Amino acid sequence: MTEKDVSVALSFDFDAMSVWLGGFGSTAPSMLSRGEFGPQGVRRILTLLAEHAIPATFFVPGHTALAFPATVEAIADAGHEIGHHGWIHENPALFGPDDERRFLDKGFEALEQVVGLRPVGYRSPGWEVTANTFPLLREYGFAYDSSQMGSEYEPYWCREGDVASMTEAWSWGTPVDLVEVPVHWMLDDFPHFEYVGFNGGVLQGGGSPRQVLQTWIDEFDYLYDRVGTGIFVPTMHPQVSGRGARLQLLEGLIAHIKGRPGVRFTTISDHVTRWRVGRVPCLPADAISGRS
Ligand SMILES: [Zn+2]
Repeated sequence: MTEKDVSVALSFDFDAMSVWLGGFGSTAPSMLSRGEFGPQGVRRILTLLAEHAIPATFFVPGHTALAFPATVEAIADAGHEIGHHGWIHENPALFGPDDERRFLDKGFEALEQVVGLRPVGYRSPGWEVTANTFPLLREYGFAYDSSQMGSEYEPYWCREGDVASMTEAWSWGTPVDLVEVPVHWMLDDFPHFEYVGFNGGVLQGGGSPRQVLQTWIDEFDYLYDRVGTGIFVPTMHPQVSGRGARLQLLEGLIAHIKGRPGVRFTTISDHVTRWRVGRVPCLPADAISGRS
């Protein structure tokens, strides 16, 4: 059997009220109160992580840091990574480059004020990015983004200048010095569990934690058994996964992963640091061979 090189980075988006304000555009007290539960979920998750001595990565919008400074301090004090997650869970695709920069600045300022740190990782709220996002992230010195889905378990280099046209052939942009650590909606607790009615649409949610646990275990086992190398990055929200029986999903996932030999729990930034060694920005293999 070839040796496994499998890492797990548990990631938590501590959105609190910001996801309802900036993500769904709601100021309805009931909707906002769902975010108010966030700190309780964080406390439970921090306790669980401490029991297992597992490092994790928390992405925190600036708005959340200012609303719950003690909770964000507790995350930092426990030694977990804190990543940038916008200012108020705004969707960058709705704004021009000046506003995108302004929101990045406000996110930085809030984290600096509350915990005195400058993140090296960025996760876009809602996982949306624009043509301006990666140039901005590089200008601000980020080491990685974790918002895209171009790979499953293997990080890859971000690109700038891809041209997507309905009438012309796909045109690859330039790979840049920014690592993408991929995510996926299937490994995100929010669409599985949250019922949301918004703008005439409905996110049904209401999934069973036991079924989602099995789905996530199957995804992890595919990495471990079939691929053998890479990183598993589920995305959880304290207001979702820290609430009631859903915490058992995280407990079950940790128990399962700990039952497989040789798996490394890590923060995303530590994994990116290791992954970067000996690598330089490049296009996907198919893109290179496809070029004339
Ligand atoms: Zn979020």
